[in-house]
Amino acid sequence: MLKFLSLRRFEPLKYHVNYDGEAKPCRARTRPCPFGDDSVHFPTEDAARAFYEKSMSEKILTFGRWRDRIALDDGYQMLLEKNIYGAEYGWLRTPDGVAVGMLHWRMTDDDFPIINDIEVRPGYRGQGYAKKMILTVEKLTGKTLRTTGGFTPEGWAALGQKIPVDERYASYPEPGIHYDSMNFVQDWNKLQTR
Ligand SMILES: [Zn+2]
Repeated sequence: MLKFLSLRRFEPLKYHVNYDGEAKPCRARTRPCPFGDDSVHFPTEDAARAFYEKSMSEKILTFGRWRDRIALDDGYQMLLEKNIYGAEYGWLRTPDGVAVGMLHWRMTDDDFPIINDIEVRPGYRGQGYAKKMILTVEKLTGKTLRTTGGFTPEGWAALGQKIPVDERYASYPEPGIHYDSMNFVQDWNKLQTR
């Protein structure tokens, strides 16, 4: 009878900094917060902001997964993230702040970027967003993006012939469709991959 009341657990309000660099109350309760663990949550808004400013000035990479933001000249943005394993992510956002593309790559031992996966948000495909992300990463790294040659059917149709294979890291005798259709992004609004 008192089910609804008795099951509600009280948690003190915590603050994190979101992808736009704003200190906000954390609403994550039942699922992990997308901005990181307790090390990036603070009892006050001021403390969250202070940590953010310090981490930016020292270029600390442990701030959630958030790392950097590139403003493209047409009002678009790429949010750049790097995880602890060295994989890098670029999220393309429209001038309105809608995430429309994700490019996940890694640097080889000799410092060449290879695509791990790339996805354009459903409803926004066929508008050149994949190319836009690729060009941005190429500008960032100063090198041509390459692949291992394994594609989903959608990826092969959209990009297969256009991205060179890195022969040293090729996973297959011939580049082509080596994976089933799949989505790499779990939640476009939270910028979460699978
Ligand atoms: Zn949070």
